[in-house]
Amino acid sequence: MEKLTAWQSTRDVNFVGSYDLIVGVDDNNQPIYKDRIVTIDYVNAKEEVMDAQTNKKVEKTVAHFKDKDVKPMILNTTNKKGIETATGTIFLEKWADKQILLTVEQVKAFGKVQPALRIKPVPKRLCDVCGKVISESIYNASMQKYNGAYCSKECLDKYNK
Ligand SMILES: [Zn+2]
Repeated sequence: MEKLTAWQSTRDVNFVGSYDLIVGVDDNNQPIYKDRIVTIDYVNAKEEVMDAQTNKKVEKTVAHFKDKDVKPMILNTTNKKGIETATGTIFLEKWADKQILLTVEQVKAFGKVQPALRIKPVPKRLCDVCGKVISESIYNASMQKYNGAYCSKECLDKYNK
């Protein structure tokens, strides 16, 4: 896409925001967002961060990702519940190595609708032929190579018959 700069990204921001999921712009000059699957590295229950409004140090729960191009994420209660749903556990320590989906939702806050970063479960990828659950990496490779999701050579051959 043409080089565009969301004003939010011009601040010195150390944490991931909804604008980090922008992949393009529509005919009304509105951002187009793309979901992203990331893997949690670890979550700090209390991490000292600088509050952008007050310039004071505050303690927040922060998720760090294995994907090195994704900045850490400050977790509010909504997103902690999102990770619980995505991972099936309330324990921060058990969130390590789990995959989650980063997505953007339009939420009403302070009387205004604004984009907000949200966490959802990674969508299940299914084989087009047998319906078996397949991993994200097999899904991606199969889509790229065959333009369809196949769990095995057997299912690919079945499809081509
Ligand atoms: Zn299959």
